[in-house]
Amino acid sequence: KADMAMFHAKSSGRNNVQFFTEEMNAKALSILTLERKLRLAVQEQAFEVYYQPQVSLHTGQVTGVEALLRWPDENGGMISPADFIPVAEEAGLMAKLGAWALQRACSDAVKLYDRVGFSFKMAVNLSASQFQHSGDIVSQVGEVLEQTGLPAAMLQLEVTESMLIEDMDAACEILEQLRRIGVTVAIDDFGTGYSSLNYITKLPVDCLKIDKSFISDVTESQGGSAVAMTVVTLGNKLGMKVLAEGIETAEQLAFLQSLGCDEYQGYYYAKPLSFEALVSCLSDSRKGH
Ligand code: C2E
Ligand code: MG
Ligand code: MG
Ligand code: MG
Repeated sequence: KADMAMFHAKSSGRNNVQFFTEEMNAKALSILTLERKLRLAVQEQAFEVYYQPQVSLHTGQVTGVEALLRWPDENGGMISPADFIPVAEEAGLMAKLGAWALQRACSDAVKLYDRVGFSFKMAVNLSASQFQHSGDIVSQVGEVLEQTGLPAAMLQLEVTESMLIEDMDAACEILEQLRRIGVTVAIDDFGTGYSSLNYITKLPVDCLKIDKSFISDVTESQGGSAVAMTVVTLGNKLGMKVLAEGIETAEQLAFLQSLGCDEYQGYYYAKPLSFEALVSCLSDSRKGH
């Protein structure tokens, strides 16, 4: 791609401006291709949902799972949601895709409960467009719970700070309504958003998820551990649960435990798993207890 751009730039006797234009064309083209593939995939529901266990730092038991979208590619690999969700959002496809993921996660939760025999929370990420446009996110959630038979108390919805700060009053109202149905709410990637500390005391939420960028730092830098410590203290004081994301090592685990953090998820315990792999993982997790 770059070679071709270079060739064009030279052969047309132009300067760097031409080079950048070619690069930008190539990029726009590949986004268009991705968008077209994505549109088709949404139509055909060609996605999967993987699940990552969430573990109590008090008891060591699995207390929940987070639903994470996966898009299988032609080569048997998976395209990361970090790569396709922004494109889906931009293309106006995320409301539909998010609704599908919510539905799948809730119906899998009911199946999982049948298979493992203990209760847990199913955490589902909401996208900005799901949260904003569908002023009917509340009724959508209600319908999915009714259709699948999942008890509302087993569903946790994850939102990010950026989805809330634009119109705080409207956001709070939606969160209140969701909690009135009986679902719980978590703030995802907490600490990375642009937000005042003041807003957090007003938000009707049940859980703060410390972003993994702070966790990777806790045993190396003072900065990361200071943020983790502050979020745990803040959450505890406000009566919220605090969950640490992205725990990869025993040291990080021990540190978060010493702070009084409530739960964690991360590669240290398990990567996101297919439904069948999750069933085995959760069944094994209770055997020794
Ligand atoms: P997230 O909600 O913050 O999810 C956590 C991400 O961290 C996941 O990435 C997970 O695989 C990854 N992770 C978990 N443990 C570790 C660890 O120990 N180390 C490292 N390095 N990473 C870890 P994933 O699955 O690629 O998802 C990325 C993001 O895509 C999610 O971040 C979420 O914002 C978004 N996403 C995924 N599924 C959905 C969905 O159904 N709806 C919406 N709206 N967004 C989704
Ligand atoms: Mg999340
Ligand atoms: Mg997160
Ligand atoms: Mg995220």
